[in-house]
Amino acid sequence: MKIGDFSNSFAQLPERFFVRQAPAIVAQPELVIFNEKLAQELGLDIAAVGAAAIFAGNTLPAGADPIAMAYAGHQFGNFVPQLGDGRAILLGEVIDQTGTRRDIQLKGAGRTAFSRGGDGRAALGPVLREYLLSEAMHALGVPTTRALAAVTTGEMVFRDRALPGAVLTRIAASNIRVGTFQYFAARGDEDAIKTLADYVIERHYPALRDEANPYLALLAAVVDRQAALIAQWLNIGFIHGVMNTDNMTISGETIDFGPCAFMDAYDAGTVFSSIDQYGRYAYAQQPHIAQWNLTRLAETLLGLIDPDEKQSIARASEVLDGFAGRFEHYWLAGMRQKLGLLTTQDGDRALVLNLLKIMQENTVDFTLFFRQFSAADATPRGLFSNPEAFDQWAETWHERLRGEARDPAARAFAMRQVNPAFIPRNHLVEQTLAAAVDHADFQPFHDLLSVLQNPFEDQPARARYAAAPPPSDTAYRTFCGT
Ligand code: AMP
Ligand code: MG
Repeated sequence: MKIGDFSNSFAQLPERFFVRQAPAIVAQPELVIFNEKLAQELGLDIAAVGAAAIFAGNTLPAGADPIAMAYAGHQFGNFVPQLGDGRAILLGEVIDQTGTRRDIQLKGAGRTAFSRGGDGRAALGPVLREYLLSEAMHALGVPTTRALAAVTTGEMVFRDRALPGAVLTRIAASNIRVGTFQYFAARGDEDAIKTLADYVIERHYPALRDEANPYLALLAAVVDRQAALIAQWLNIGFIHGVMNTDNMTISGETIDFGPCAFMDAYDAGTVFSSIDQYGRYAYAQQPHIAQWNLTRLAETLLGLIDPDEKQSIARASEVLDGFAGRFEHYWLAGMRQKLGLLTTQDGDRALVLNLLKIMQENTVDFTLFFRQFSAADATPRGLFSNPEAFDQWAETWHERLRGEARDPAARAFAMRQVNPAFIPRNHLVEQTLAAAVDHADFQPFHDLLSVLQNPFEDQPARARYAAAPPPSDTAYRTFCGT
């Protein structure tokens, strides 16, 4: 069955880059959701009747060349030389309407050569969670993999209990990770690293072909995209939760929505993931971890950067040292926008840090603060347990605004374009998933998704979706158990 024009380039790479593997056939595929707008963007033509079978992996579309990709990775700092797609299968690639090559991948599509002890399956809850979170991130303007479809399989998967099984169809600029480079570096396979680097340059950074040192330029480009990405995460209160090197893309898209979650009350040390005992991937750690991961990438490229190892290390180090500055640049630019500042002034960093400090001391909801601060006719003052702390800070902000010519209504309007009213609030996500998993009630999922598709619009009838969670005795915890 033809759904589009496949153009599979990764599967043309040497055999050791992947293992050919068809998706498993499942008992009874049923479509939960299909992202028609994204399908159009991808130039796919999917008759609704066939959709469930295709997105479950039961019917292979014409032109697909399904593979499981090889990769390695540092998981919580420990190197694992072979991870790979253990429960994801890359169906193939299509060229979208803008001319960009995109991967179509089924997640939860059965065992592969990389499954190790795993069952290759995914449970419905995590599939819907990734659907919601990745589509919310996209609507928030953050580079991310997308969700094209979710189907239930009619089979159970066994985690701590029996759960309905599901498959997510995920779209990515590519699924090449820092860990993909590490896989070949761990095997001393310099030829493969060069082939992969050339492929990545061709696919993601074609302008670098003509650089004097394309591989050093590649490192610099990935450093820059990741710095921009992590800054965006921090600007909206996103915590990825499991920033292992196998979960960091070379394209600069957010990938692998496992235990990720949005922060409610501002706290730089926020950790949600139950397995992140030491806070390695805490909210404010993310830039440091990104740089650590990029250093692992740099190590794999040393042989390509310069034949002289010392030279190579010196040049790569210089690029890596630039990460902090790039991150700071993007992060501060984002914070300026959030605070409605047009110009750049020396004291801006301190202004932002002072605000974050009092937000943390007063357990102020991060999203609510910036949204209320963006309203021309309201004040976030009431969010502070000590409102005077806000008053004092607001004076410094007013003072700072004197140098700016923009009128308040225009400023407030601009601020509402960057400070969302709606994020996937943890308590709402959990309610939604529980309804779907425990009661096969998908309405709350569809309702929440629809709210999250327009995060910057006031949606008065849906105000409850913007609210902070009710006070709770227990900290919110997320789990990897996809
Ligand atoms: P993740 O924590 O999702 O980034 O996955 C880390 C590694 O574990 C990847 O190689 C996955 O393919 C593999 N993996 C995770 N869950 C499963 C599963 N249920 N079956 C097989 N492999 C899995
Ligand atoms: Mg992963």
